[in-house]
Amino acid sequence: MRKSCILPPDFETVVQVRERRDRLVGQLTRSLEPGAAELALRVGSCRKGGRCGSGACQVCQRQERKILIRAADSALRKDGPLLRLSWIPRGGVIPLGGLATFDLRRFIASRLRALQRALPGIVVLGGVDVSLNTFENGTPVWVVHLYLLIEAADTKALRKGIRTRCAGEPSAPRPFDFREVSRGGRPLVLSYALKAAFYKRSGFIDATGRANTRPQALPVGAAVEAALFLDRWPLNRRLILHGLRLVHGRDGLRLVRRDGGPSRRGSRP
Ligand SMILES: [Zn+2]
Repeated sequence: MRKSCILPPDFETVVQVRERRDRLVGQLTRSLEPGAAELALRVGSCRKGGRCGSGACQVCQRQERKILIRAADSALRKDGPLLRLSWIPRGGVIPLGGLATFDLRRFIASRLRALQRALPGIVVLGGVDVSLNTFENGTPVWVVHLYLLIEAADTKALRKGIRTRCAGEPSAPRPFDFREVSRGGRPLVLSYALKAAFYKRSGFIDATGRANTRPQALPVGAAVEAALFLDRWPLNRRLILHGLRLVHGRDGLRLVRRDGGPSRRGSRP
């Protein structure tokens, strides 16, 4: 098995992430937002041998994504069903400008407790994605989604358990979107669950996974707001882990199953 085969075919290239980083550094440099100039200097000085490690730096986050995607692929069972759930939890709609004061740690902790009640003993792995959604009236808002991979079959009882214990955002037409994942579909869903950048989307429906428009780049003001948020909440702090834990060992990063199941090293598959 080739080392990179779990990465989807359209996985971002080094050239692409360098371009995105350089564009962001320019946007941050021109911004008057508190912290933007400091972040521009930090991300702008990111070099081979002296990486900045910021959650806003697409070059650093590309590396982090590769490691986490491989770790996730190693930790999740290969021989059972896998269900993906896109969930917009209640309270997951934030006004533009509101990310600076949004307490993601608290948000994740309470939703994780609900998931634990809904799915006892079932392994769940996922990430928090935030997108800028435009409604019919044209007022854009940030929408927080939990994109989860659940080691379970898609049954009525499971869906009911989740809908009963995990509150969905009432203003979202589809706060829950379930889909079974085929073996061939794993690279795409792993890549999506472990996203490193935020985008603009038109309408809620797109945000739940049934995209009929391609995600677009954020407008400048929102891009700066997202970068400051991502700097505080990098990919490894936006993980949703139930029945798994993240281990930083001497030999790299691993995801270890709490049920003691087989789990190989993520960074060295
Ligand atoms: Zn960097």
